[in-house]
Amino acid sequence: MGEILEEFISGFCRSSNETRTVACEYERQEDGSLRMTEFDCNYEKCPNSAACLIYKEARKRADGNLELD
Ligand code: SF4
Repeated sequence: MGEILEEFISGFCRSSNETRTVACEYERQEDGSLRMTEFDCNYEKCPNSAACLIYKEARKRADGNLELD
């Protein structure tokens, strides 16, 4: 198992109509990229998930392979 990184991503949540912070977990892959392994929100059941900016930001951090703190 690769290195595990945790990030807290804040943004506007349409479902709760307020700012929310979602804890995310990433696992460092052998090629150095990050794979998101946890998004601490019920994304699959959320009716606003397709437009969720918090989720998009969380994915972007993995896809962009940015260094996390
Ligand atoms: S997936 Fe839905 S409930 Fe979760 S943060 Fe995004 S808008 Fe809010």
